[in-house]
Order: sequence, then C-alpha cells, then structure tokens
Amino acid sequence: MGWVGVKIRVLALPTQVKGTPAPTLVYRAEAYDEEDQFREPKWTCPHRHDSAHAAHDCGLDWLHGEAGEVGQSEG
Ligand SMILES: [Zn+2]
Repeated sequence: MGWVGVKIRVLALPTQVKGTPAPTLVYRAEAYDEEDQFREPKWTCPHRHDSAHAAHDCGLDWLHGEAGEVGQSEG
C-alpha cells in the first residue's frame, strides 16, 4: 500500500450559524492521492475546525495513524 502520494489539503467551507447574519468559515481536512488524476478525497475530516491550521493538523494526525497501522489487523 502506498501512502507516499497521499497529501492533506484543507477546505474552507462557509457555514451558516443560527443567530448570525453572515456565514462563517469552517475548515475541514481532506486526504487525497497526489497520483490520482482526479484527486478524489480518500478521507474527509468529520470535524469543523475553527482554523485551517487545526484542520491541517487533524489531517496529518489521521494520515500518520493510517500509515502507521498498515499491516495490522482491522477491528
Ligand atoms: Zn478534523
């Protein structure tokens, strides 16, 4: 399994919050394969982060976890 080409990107998503007039931005991390011509996300962060930095860290944490668990049994 190659995780070498897997990169983390951060998406900024406008989200309407009740009681506020303007949408605020939340950030989500995505993992994608650099070698995939369509670069479809292999994984999307389930959170809504307040900052792009936090989302990126989240993505890196996931990537390290996934890459570190290759070869171990699931569940
Ligand atoms: Zn996250």
